[in-house]
Amino acid sequence: MKIYITQTIPSIAEEMLVKAGYEVDVNRENKILSQEELLTALSKKPYDAVLPLLTNQINASVFDAVPTAKIFANYAVGYNNIDVAEATKRGITITNTPGALTDSVAEHTVGLILSLSLRIVESDSYLCAGKYKGWEPLGFLGIDLKGKTVGVLGAGRIGYRVAEILKKGFGMNVVYYDVKKNDPFEKELGATFCDTPEGVLKIADVVTVHVPLLDSTKHLINAQRLTMMKPSAYLINTSRGPVVDEAALVTALQNHIIAGAGLDVFENEPQLAPGLAQLSNVVITPHIASATKVARDEMAVLAAQNIIDFFGGKVPANKVS
Ligand code: NAD
Repeated sequence: MKIYITQTIPSIAEEMLVKAGYEVDVNRENKILSQEELLTALSKKPYDAVLPLLTNQINASVFDAVPTAKIFANYAVGYNNIDVAEATKRGITITNTPGALTDSVAEHTVGLILSLSLRIVESDSYLCAGKYKGWEPLGFLGIDLKGKTVGVLGAGRIGYRVAEILKKGFGMNVVYYDVKKNDPFEKELGATFCDTPEGVLKIADVVTVHVPLLDSTKHLINAQRLTMMKPSAYLINTSRGPVVDEAALVTALQNHIIAGAGLDVFENEPQLAPGLAQLSNVVITPHIASATKVARDEMAVLAAQNIIDFFGGKVPANKVS
């Protein structure tokens, strides 16, 4: 079996695949392949499997470039970078890496919330700029999370873990919206279900978004919905950039429609919406919510195992189509 990995990931994946007797080629240039480079790389050999990243657009032209590939094992839990319908039509298996990064992304989400509520990044910049002249009783007043309400949009694995940390660790109340009700959310965290996103937006002090990127979730947070949030509320997005209308968010932040935003993902990565980086009420990180060693290693193990299981005649544990 010949396998192509589109960028260097933790070596455990390659080791597992080599141990299984496969020939493994890796793009070791430490750069995201352009679509043209990806097509060229994949057409060099009759690869049987591809291990792509979320930065690769896997569509009909990719499937055409490597017609021998029967499985694409995405190195991510989200798989909005793959034309799943086209893959299904062609009988190509798609897998992802759920669970491996739940803790990492949830902890990063809480980190963004605390950075805003305690004004950590803002005050760090102030200090580093040499502006600190001594303890200020009214300087950088933040908010306590205890007793406030977190609103979770998308009550899946990551949404649950975020809510659990904030409920059990910080004493926050939890409200949530999802396309389906979630029993553990309600029974274990005492969460209240809202049957519309608006229901959450109106009452939450912190709104945190954990839905997959789908046609139905693109711009789930738009200009109109931002106006429904409390002026004191924070919006956090560690899901996928296009779930939030980023230009509308910049306008809302500039006009203090909401108090602040914490973002790990952006609508047109790696570009940022004009004005976003200049705002002091924003904390932004470069899509690193899953960037812990444990999470990235585990993702590599899952992706490689999905390929090994597939060629071993088993249904891969993380088959999405
Ligand atoms: P999950 O499948 O466990 O949870 C997603 C939840 O969203 C589900 O409960 C689902 O019912 C709900 N949902 C789907 N469509 C909805 C809609 N229209 N409205 C409301 N809810 C809807 O997934 P997860 O493991 O929690 O991951 C969530 C997302 O986080 C992934 O799809 C991925 O895009 C993103 N993610 C980002 C990073 C990062 O590095 N920033 C890392 C991992 C995952």
